[in-house]
Amino acid sequence: MAFDIDDLRIQPGELVDLNDIDPRSTPSWADDPSGDRELDKASARAHLEVCNARLEELQELLYAEGKHRVLVVLQAMDAGGKDGTIRHVFEHVNPQGVKVTSFKKPSSLELAHDYLWRIHAHVPGNGEMAVFNRSHYEDVLVVRVNDLVPERQWRKRYRHIRDFEQMLADEGTTIVKIFLHISPDEQAERFQSRLDEPHKHWKFSHGDLEVRTQWNDYMRAFEDALGQTSTDDAPWYVVPADRKWYRNVAVCEIMVQTLESLAMDWPAAEDDLDDVVIPEVD
Ligand code: AMP
Ligand code: MG
Repeated sequence: MAFDIDDLRIQPGELVDLNDIDPRSTPSWADDPSGDRELDKASARAHLEVCNARLEELQELLYAEGKHRVLVVLQAMDAGGKDGTIRHVFEHVNPQGVKVTSFKKPSSLELAHDYLWRIHAHVPGNGEMAVFNRSHYEDVLVVRVNDLVPERQWRKRYRHIRDFEQMLADEGTTIVKIFLHISPDEQAERFQSRLDEPHKHWKFSHGDLEVRTQWNDYMRAFEDALGQTSTDDAPWYVVPADRKWYRNVAVCEIMVQTLESLAMDWPAAEDDLDDVVIPEVD
């Protein structure tokens, strides 16, 4: 099945209306003709297994070749599935070549610098893949919604971010940005399961409920961020994420197709490997 990731991609300058994108939808996924969602889930799991194996192979190639740098930015509302996506999509990749960074509330040292300072320190080097669980986008999301800096200050950040990411791209970094789009109903269900299941209690935070009441403000902030910072070299993808099986397949496909577009090659072997004899040890 050909999964067309362009269906999920935001065009540069696009006026994004998240109300037009149904979080329960499954773009590019051919539903089972029976209409039975359980069959879709089962075939998505099989598809994900194949995709994961391909991602594992491509990441090894990235690491072996040591030429390209890959940055993946993941953003979502609370309970949007950032952690689950990292677990399910990147579960087989070699931990030596992938660095995951979770950006929390900035420390006082971080706040004493410009907002990109802490970000720049975690971008990938040659042969590496870096996954950002939250990112510099918080500086035009939570910061904007809560007036943590004046508007005249955050307004300029879309341009800074475009320029910063363009610099990274010009210097050899491939950038993929993914917004996991969930509905308020789905978030409510996931919060409820955090309350109901003791092993999920640790994930529950009262602060998340407060953020939930600002849902519409966050959607407006996401729409601006997506539209203003999706570029040819650093595109945003909006992944409908209420259905986890679809979310995992979509993110894996975005990763695989992006890595395939790099046309990487295994490094050349040393000469005369056919004649090599492994010496005895005495
Ligand atoms: P979590 O991802 O659930 O561990 O939560 C991290 C928290 O840090 C979230 O509430 C974010 O909004 C917050 N956060 C991350 N980056 C920033 C930032 N630049 N400014 C303010 N809060 C932030
Ligand atoms: Mg949280």
